[in-house]
Amino acid sequence: MDENVVVSRARKLLKDAGIETAPVDVEALALHLGFKVSRVELSEGEAGNTFERRGQKYICVNEKDSVVRQRFTILHEIAHHVLKLPSLHGEKVPGDELERFTGRPQEEIACDVFAAECLVPWALIQPLAEDMNFTLEHLAELSERFQASRSCIASKFAQASEGHLAFVVAEDGVVKYSIGSKALRDARVWISTGIPLPQNSAAAKAHKAGISGLHEADIEGSDWSTSDDARRFACYEQATYHSPTRQTQSILNFEELDPRPVSNGNRERHDDDDLLEELDGRPGWSKYR
Ligand SMILES: [Zn+2]
Repeated sequence: MDENVVVSRARKLLKDAGIETAPVDVEALALHLGFKVSRVELSEGEAGNTFERRGQKYICVNEKDSVVRQRFTILHEIAHHVLKLPSLHGEKVPGDELERFTGRPQEEIACDVFAAECLVPWALIQPLAEDMNFTLEHLAELSERFQASRSCIASKFAQASEGHLAFVVAEDGVVKYSIGSKALRDARVWISTGIPLPQNSAAAKAHKAGISGLHEADIEGSDWSTSDDARRFACYEQATYHSPTRQTQSILNFEELDPRPVSNGNRERHDDDDLLEELDGRPGWSKYR
């Protein structure tokens, strides 16, 4: 399933249910699809489960999880239903898997994409991304406003922004997810997944130190991307490290130092340019087709 299909189904659901404001009313979405939602006592590490009894569909979420996590779990379960993707984790959703990438099937990641689009609808984040800077402080503010995790907010912000910026998630020091803004992609700068974090990045230092918290770094665009055009950029990075999941999140703001030479603007396009762009510039789940 193409990521665009996943996103457009999420947008259709929001539209059909008449949701136009943040925080998105997740329970109204569930109800619209005939699900009853309840908060129950579940074993530790279980985010939620879905089942049907006497014709009534239920989504149960772990009452001990944060509200933000409960909202995400409900939408992840709704996604299985709307996208008709069988749940590869069975009826129970393991809490330590949501919003992670390592070792997860593409179907599950597609359900997370759906959940993120519902929590942070394009129509609502787009005007905000135009006005706000891409910083941890502003992401925290938006996270509160949308009642969504920072990674949901950051990836949607990066997609909606007109600046040169990117959001990168790494696990165990290896880049698992990267999303660059349109301007960054148009400038031909792509951050590949599957590569180790750049040595002098804040994220690499954070991972090495093994201490949760905030880290910063000023590095070269070419540290993050092997594309020729990356050399024209400097990059300011804010990174956080979460030790239980060994996950780093990098907020990257690129500054264009040299405009692209005009002669290069007309350079020959090679047949494989589009292919390279697709392989380097798209999030990992795009390979799920
Ligand atoms: Zn699932």
